[in-house]
Amino acid sequence: MIFAEIILPLALPKTLTYGIPETLQGTVRRGMRVEVSFGKNKSYAGIVYELHHRHPESYQVKPVKKLLDQQPIVSERQLAFWTWISRYYCCTLGDVMQAALPAHLKLMNETMLIWNEQIFGLPQALSDEGYLLAEALQVRKKLTIAEIRLVVDNKNHARAISEVLEYGLAFIEDDLKEKYKPKEEQFVYLSNTLAADEKLLGPVFDSLKTAPRQSELLLHFFQIRQKEKEVSSAELLKLSGAKPAALKALVQKGILETCDKTISRLSNSGSRGRHSPAYTLNEEQEKALQAIRRQWSDKKEVVLLQGVTGSGKTMLYIRLILEAIERGQATLFLLPEIALTTHFVQRLFAYFGDQLGVYHSRFSNNERVEIWNKVQNGQYKVIIGARSALWLPFQNLAQIIVDEEHEISYKQQDPAPRFQARDASIFLAGLHQAKVLLGSATPSLESAYNVQTGKYGFAALHRRFHNQVLPEVKTIPAGNIKPSLSGIITLPLLNAAQNAFSKGKQVLLFQNKRGYAPFLICASCGFIPHCPQCDVSLTYHKVSDRLHCHYCGQKSLPLKSCPQCGQAKIIARSFGTEKIEEDLQRIFPKRRIARMDTDSVRGKNAMSRMIRDFERGSIDMLVGTQMIVKGLDFENVGLVGILNADSLWSFPDFRVNERAFQLMEQVSGRAGRTHDDPGEVYIQAYNLQHPLLQLVAAHDYRQFYRQEIQFRAQFDYPPFSKLIKLTLKHRDQLKAAAAAGFLAEQLQHVPRVHIQGPAPAVVSKIRNLYLFEIRLKLPKSGAALSSQKQEILTAIQRLQGLKGFSGVQVIIDIDPW
Ligand code: ADP
Ligand code: ZN
Repeated sequence: MIFAEIILPLALPKTLTYGIPETLQGTVRRGMRVEVSFGKNKSYAGIVYELHHRHPESYQVKPVKKLLDQQPIVSERQLAFWTWISRYYCCTLGDVMQAALPAHLKLMNETMLIWNEQIFGLPQALSDEGYLLAEALQVRKKLTIAEIRLVVDNKNHARAISEVLEYGLAFIEDDLKEKYKPKEEQFVYLSNTLAADEKLLGPVFDSLKTAPRQSELLLHFFQIRQKEKEVSSAELLKLSGAKPAALKALVQKGILETCDKTISRLSNSGSRGRHSPAYTLNEEQEKALQAIRRQWSDKKEVVLLQGVTGSGKTMLYIRLILEAIERGQATLFLLPEIALTTHFVQRLFAYFGDQLGVYHSRFSNNERVEIWNKVQNGQYKVIIGARSALWLPFQNLAQIIVDEEHEISYKQQDPAPRFQARDASIFLAGLHQAKVLLGSATPSLESAYNVQTGKYGFAALHRRFHNQVLPEVKTIPAGNIKPSLSGIITLPLLNAAQNAFSKGKQVLLFQNKRGYAPFLICASCGFIPHCPQCDVSLTYHKVSDRLHCHYCGQKSLPLKSCPQCGQAKIIARSFGTEKIEEDLQRIFPKRRIARMDTDSVRGKNAMSRMIRDFERGSIDMLVGTQMIVKGLDFENVGLVGILNADSLWSFPDFRVNERAFQLMEQVSGRAGRTHDDPGEVYIQAYNLQHPLLQLVAAHDYRQFYRQEIQFRAQFDYPPFSKLIKLTLKHRDQLKAAAAAGFLAEQLQHVPRVHIQGPAPAVVSKIRNLYLFEIRLKLPKSGAALSSQKQEILTAIQRLQGLKGFSGVQVIIDIDPW
């Protein structure tokens, strides 16, 4: 008898054993999907994880119902990666499967495919079974997977579904909730009369003599049209530096016409792969490149490339990717999620065109199908993506590049698998015998330490390519404000902004997180309204005139009088980006000011639109949270201001200095990217003596590292130890506390573990659940670590096995950030 261990997309602690019926023996392989029944009459598509002859003793084995694939859809390498993730990060294989497989490969019998009404005519390239399914969908409008199996030969239905989704002929039910919208872009054409007779152009240019901006724009139009079939408005405005008003005027005069067109979902612009400027590396860059190659071939699997913003790291990446392509090999290029929506991606498209695929979590299922397939069949030679790109079915991978390797967004918080994409990419690269390049201006302490100990190789770029000096950093006392002008921005900063504007430069203002958003306070007794469910202060939004809870999202009416002392002296205090924007608009009425935070930019395209507007110069000043500092390449920024530096170093976390330093350095890196002007950085703080400020002012990473690594060693924090965070949740506070106490006691038995807590979490209540945390510090050695993890899991199981505590949720977070 042959048995199979099956991974189901459910939170089950283990794989389940099913029997392989004789008819399927010999055809079932690891990585294929099979249909199995589980629970009451429920069928699931699960992945075959292992085939064996071990007869389970304790339960009756059910047979596999159907084989769903002819080929494995998950490769041996992917399975090995899944296994490592699940072991290292202490999650189930089901969790990994949920995260790793795109929706179309996890379809359930009852999942519905819905015909896309915007489709007329079927693509030629469809296979027979794809065609069959498309026709059926066209007539019936929707079909469940079970019905599809009846329409298309059972063995081929998977391929048919994947084709139909890839061509956008139909959608998976869930996707409709995302509201499918084709992507539109505006293009510019010569008006019909002029196009018919270009001799008329002479008089047209004559007529524009009094409107130099318009004639300039028209000239650019012809320049672009010489090189490209279509001229997009965005590109035209960017290259000509003209304002949208100039374009509008030309349209009104009947010289140009505009038209909105739908563009393919995956092509990011009309101009891909066409102008890939050739470039030669300068001496320092060439040296760095050779150092990387040398260390890679010298058995260093990982090399850290440290270079300030603007030093040309990206140019090295491009070079390495091109070299891999010449050898027929692929590259995975990881970026923080947020950087994927920017100009940066356009820049890479220029080099790699159709060989480049972009992958991030906001793509719809259909887009994922397309990318998954193209990675699998080797059409994409470069994938740039956020951490979820690690799950793609790579073939022939040469290297993984992790840019901005210090970024916290590489760590997945929720749900499981709570993996660190940078760390996981090193394991993944090992499976492919590929190499890893980590890039950063301000490397994480962990990576820098690995260089120090010789585990990683190292290469550096010390100078900015155009020899621009790094901006001068000025610190100014935050108390020094003029309340009549602005409640939070100091006079020197306002003057600097005015100065930057008058030089034609743009300004970026950075405000830490939303925690600094306005809250209401009673001026008489100091009462602050809190969310009854979440134990965090509520944020006041002026536009909606409501109090918001940023943890659970609940909204309520603002208070008129104080529930504590009864007086009607409720005032708004501290300022969020919204209030700053309002102040600034009042002070600079003629400037175009925009705000970028998670409130103002919702939705897939809102942010990229705002970034484009800024790049194009139709925004003079951008006020924002962390979002504005991530890898954005704004050429014309003359001033960067940090409004509340104290808040960066005043929360309880051992990484707080590292974060604050990285953030301030990165923000500074936004200034002065042009040749002529180093730009200015203003940092407002109450505590001007803070040591970090001097380090940032001197742009001295080495000194920062020396100080910080000493502190880590002294208190035995990573990279000198490993941390594990356990979070216990329950709606009954006493029960949650008792469970945490019990678990902490059990953990005493795990050898060589240092236990901190239990303690209530910083935010001690979320969605009516009380949170308690236990932090564990473990020695770094790998072998002992995995047995320690086993014992920790056993302790958790023991807790959850107790009647009284069975409802307590325990979340285990390895290497928490
Ligand atoms: P980083 O990624 O380190 O921030 P970039 O690679 O973006 O730096 O380089 C900064 C700027 O300098 C870019 O505009 C880039 O085009 C230019 N640059 C860097 N190196 C070269 C080179 N070798 N030849 C031409 N331009 C370069
Ligand atoms: Zn709440």
